Amino acid sequence: MHRAEETTVASYADFYRRSIDDRDVFWAEQAQLIDWATSPQTICDYSNPPFARWFADGTTNLCYNAVDRHLADRGDQRALIFVSTETDQEIVYTYRQLHAEVQRMAAALQGLGVRKGDRVLIYMPMIAEACFAMLACARIGAVHSVVFGGFASGSLATRIDDAEPTVIVSADAGSRGGKPVPYKHLLDEAIKLAAHKPQAVLLVDRGLAPMQLVEGRDHLWGALRESLLDAQVPCEWVEATHPSYTLYTSGTTGKPKGVQRDTGGYAVALAASIRNIYCGKPGETFFCTSDIGWVVGHSYIIYGPLIGGMATIMYEGTPVRPDGGIWWKLVEKYKVSVMFSAPTAIRVLKKQDPKYLSQYDLSSLRSLFLAGEPLDEPTAKWISEGLNHKPIIDNYWQTETGWPILAVCNGVEPTPTRFGSPGKAVYGYNVKLLDDQTGEELTGPNQKGVIAVQGPLPPGCLQTVWRDDARYVNTYWSSVPNQLVYSTFDWGIRDEDGYYFILGRTDDVINVAGHRLGTREIEEAIAAHPNVAEVAVVGVADQLKGQVAMAFAVLKDASQLEDPDAMLKLEGDVMKLVDGSLGAVARPARVRFVAVLPKTRSGKLLRRAVQAVCEGRDPGDLTTMEDPGALQQIKDLVAGV
Ligand code: ATP
Ligand code: MG
Repeated sequence: MHRAEETTVASYADFYRRSIDDRDVFWAEQAQLIDWATSPQTICDYSNPPFARWFADGTTNLCYNAVDRHLADRGDQRALIFVSTETDQEIVYTYRQLHAEVQRMAAALQGLGVRKGDRVLIYMPMIAEACFAMLACARIGAVHSVVFGGFASGSLATRIDDAEPTVIVSADAGSRGGKPVPYKHLLDEAIKLAAHKPQAVLLVDRGLAPMQLVEGRDHLWGALRESLLDAQVPCEWVEATHPSYTLYTSGTTGKPKGVQRDTGGYAVALAASIRNIYCGKPGETFFCTSDIGWVVGHSYIIYGPLIGGMATIMYEGTPVRPDGGIWWKLVEKYKVSVMFSAPTAIRVLKKQDPKYLSQYDLSSLRSLFLAGEPLDEPTAKWISEGLNHKPIIDNYWQTETGWPILAVCNGVEPTPTRFGSPGKAVYGYNVKLLDDQTGEELTGPNQKGVIAVQGPLPPGCLQTVWRDDARYVNTYWSSVPNQLVYSTFDWGIRDEDGYYFILGRTDDVINVAGHRLGTREIEEAIAAHPNVAEVAVVGVADQLKGQVAMAFAVLKDASQLEDPDAMLKLEGDVMKLVDGSLGAVARPARVRFVAVLPKTRSGKLLRRAVQAVCEGRDPGDLTTMEDPGALQQIKDLVAGV
């Protein structure tokens, strides 16, 4: 039995306190949730702040913890459930089968020259082989760098040059809305553009798009796999601080940052989070609808659920094809207990007939977790009602942290949620609210400040920016003079009970005639209008007031979008709504209506691009933007075309 299970915890407040005040004892207990080749004796080495080295003298392996250690007890239980509504495939891998596939992939990578510490870039759709490739890297101590499938060749090329991979694993194509999205030519183009050349490219041929193989460089997984059916590749025991992967942030606020993650701290953090935050149990099913290209996919499609001995669903497809009930159908079929999605996905479902939510037996589902962006009240209410008032749990974190900073830890003590709040500070994170001008700590309730974390960051968080320690320190740890705190660049408030509310990015704070406002507050007020589906508010430089708010909204019923009079009337109605809820000072200078808002491919509003366009500036790095047409529409509106 794990020692952590024997500890009786009186309350979450005690649990949290211990994690900060008695840090090493606390994390030594959590460390027993995973298997080690050498148990760590040093828990947190913070001799060189802000660089924290967790469990530094321990050795372990992520793949061992995710796969091998479950073979004895649950070898024939489900591990990976691959579902594609794009290609109509559904394949279930038991832990034993997953173990075999991962060893085949590991042998293939080794055969292509990959050794411990080498990087492997994974540019793949949401197919089982992508999971095999990630776990195979972890198995042999290689560092994976997953790049969201379908990124254009330019974005891919910069990532190839940053990671300098020995091997790239890819596929002929992804698929979206039933149509193949060819990858191979994008990859070829990216390799041409990049200064670094991989030794080999390993390709999964799904039969979706023609591929031209480059002699001597390109290898087909199908053929290699056949020759490696009995491959046995032992896990390479690596130091807990050995990098497991690098991953880029979403690029919402600028050029994406290459986050580097360790091995031991990450495994411990995930194992503990599955138990304390997501409340998943071995043998149950976890369904996370994200993509492996994002941190949520790394932590809660692949590593977290598997480390926790759960089955995990890897889903390729949209939430509305073949119909808006597909996710709920999977919940019924695989008896999903824990589901994890993003507000943006729920907003897509909200446009569908609510009948889909009542068509399936969802009794296995305990809670739905949402993260990635603010969860607005109308969306939370809609899904909560649709799911018969099952808990809808917002949680707040970042690519950098790898797991939640703010959440409710129901696995420690049942804690009620509050609308609009992702919960309280999670154990291990010494969260502070700071005055963004003076850096002073704000200790009273309901004060607005920057959310920061006093070092050391807990296990699982980024070790550094890949190959750029200086950038790590300068970007994250240098915002407050004479104080070593990690800045999240998000702005929020904390109520008297310790619940936080995110007001937006620090960049999104606007100053209208001396009043500091969060764009999120104005967006919430506008979103309360019955015909507003989604809205982005940005601060735009104004000679008189310093800044004014500008709003761009997507309508639920857009039939009158081309009628200027109707839109003017609606603009007035929306302004009145803002006046009523926040006061006239928050009233946007203009409220414009558009068909679609510019977003990153991970579904986040690109406010900084909207702001730049409104101010007639260059919108900067747009490599992670989903639909360039969305920004053009705003440009045209602003230019008065
Ligand atoms: P970049 O750092 O490159 O600008 P990004 O910050 O969007 O991109 P991610 O790491 O994917 O990259 O997103 C983390 C951010 O998402 C957080 O800093 C916060 O702004 C927002 N976020 C995440 N979860 C929540 C949440 N539950 N509520 C509000 N905002 C959230
Ligand atoms: Mg960020």
